[in-house]
Amino acid sequence: MNALLNILNFIDGEFVPAVGESWLDNVEPATGVIYSLLADSDDRDVALAVQAAEKAFPSWSNMPATERSRILLRIAEGIDTHMEELAHAESKDSGKPVELARTVDIPRARDNFHFFGTAVMHFASESHAMPGQAINYTLRQPLGTVACISPWNLPLYLFTWKIAPALAAGNCVVAKPSEITPATAWMLADIARAAGLPAGVLNIVHGLGPKVGAALVDHPGIKAISFTGGTKTGEAIARSAAPRFKKLSLELGGKNPNLIFADCDYEQALQTSVRSSLSNQGQICLCGSRIYVERALYDRFRSDFVARVAALIQGDPLQTQTQQGAVVSQAHFDKVMACIALAREEGGVVLTGGKPVKLKGRCSKGWFIEPTVIEGLAPGCRTNREEIFGPVVTLQPFDREDEALALANDGTYGLAATVWTQNLDRAHRLAEQLQAGVVWVNCWLLRDLRTPFGGMRDSGVGREGGWEAMRFFTEPKNVCIKY
Ligand code: NDP
Repeated sequence: MNALLNILNFIDGEFVPAVGESWLDNVEPATGVIYSLLADSDDRDVALAVQAAEKAFPSWSNMPATERSRILLRIAEGIDTHMEELAHAESKDSGKPVELARTVDIPRARDNFHFFGTAVMHFASESHAMPGQAINYTLRQPLGTVACISPWNLPLYLFTWKIAPALAAGNCVVAKPSEITPATAWMLADIARAAGLPAGVLNIVHGLGPKVGAALVDHPGIKAISFTGGTKTGEAIARSAAPRFKKLSLELGGKNPNLIFADCDYEQALQTSVRSSLSNQGQICLCGSRIYVERALYDRFRSDFVARVAALIQGDPLQTQTQQGAVVSQAHFDKVMACIALAREEGGVVLTGGKPVKLKGRCSKGWFIEPTVIEGLAPGCRTNREEIFGPVVTLQPFDREDEALALANDGTYGLAATVWTQNLDRAHRLAEQLQAGVVWVNCWLLRDLRTPFGGMRDSGVGREGGWEAMRFFTEPKNVCIKY
């Protein structure tokens, strides 16, 4: 594969610069150094991409499912073949530990193509008989050209989570990765081309959200938008898409509770809670950043948790042993540090962390923040309600199950929740009542790709995953034949 120099758009099967021939800097978060340039696209690039997609649509949508499946499975194989380069690129682009990219992000990107490459072979539509009168059958037809817009935290994983079902269902795609982490999307284009994906079926435009992202959302040729990102951006997209009645799937922010009861499997709860609150420097929408612990266990958990967090190895993300890398950008670094300052103003006590980290050598100018644990905050304060999306976790004790539930459901988000208990009745009771689209009991981030995925309340609308995604990317049409 090519060295990362200039990251070009991928339109109609070709790598091309932006029409305006302008470029954006791509900065490595671990070093603060610009290491490549990416196309700074605008509405003209979107127009070309949509045109290419529309041209490719008739033959792609009419291609037998077996053939589409074969191509998607070859893309999965291509990701597998280039696993190490992709993991390295993702780590360099985002500041995440290379080991995380190697074991989670890139394998899951491969699995997305594998899953939807096989799903297309099993996707079926319904028929409903009206005995003696008529038969109804439902056609599920691809929509045409759809937009897939993804964020920087799980760059290739979330990008492919949208693109794979859209393609499997017979659509053509114009996709935009985050301008902050464009590298693996660019490499994916190469893999898709080598896998035999016809020109124009997948088009990738790079650049700024408010410029090329907004142009993509506004384009009249776009029939549906699958977006993952912040709640404010989701609102802007919904406002633009509504008057044109475009289909929308919005996967937005979260502020996820992690409830730990005294009867839990302690070691599992402790170990997983370190991971679930701080993986990828806390920059995973599903991270449990609010930990509530039953009082009988609180002191023990607090001291063990703080010790394990303080022992996490922070360093150059490109080194295999690193467990905590850099946060993604200077702007994000500033935001997270401001959130820590706010937590202190709100009465929070920092138990560990709370400061920037200055590493030596290659990473001396990188954006590193100590993994931070805070206690002593009042439930309704801003720190407990607003998404920080960084290596910051709050701890609080509770006395009763109903109190734990009320604390968990406080706030406006509703993406995910985790419950640690050996009491089966309690697990079912809470699962029913938690305001979250995903509830994990005695685990975290365990995914079966057939299940619906997404949030409620300010965490978004629509569901991704499995048949939900295949249905989202198709238009159902009922045919009623009287006999
Ligand atoms: P943003 O909302 O800033 O950006 C997401 C994507 O949208 C990027 O590609 C961005 O481009 C683009 N974008 C920005 N403005 C517009 C616009 N007006 N029109 C169209 N596209 C636009 O989110 P972040 O990248 O900062 O990601 C972090 C957020 O994502 C967090 O809130 C997190 O919770 C959420 N998230 C949600 C998940 C879920 O499944 N619910 C999963 C992962 C993250 P660019 O970056 O180039 O400006």
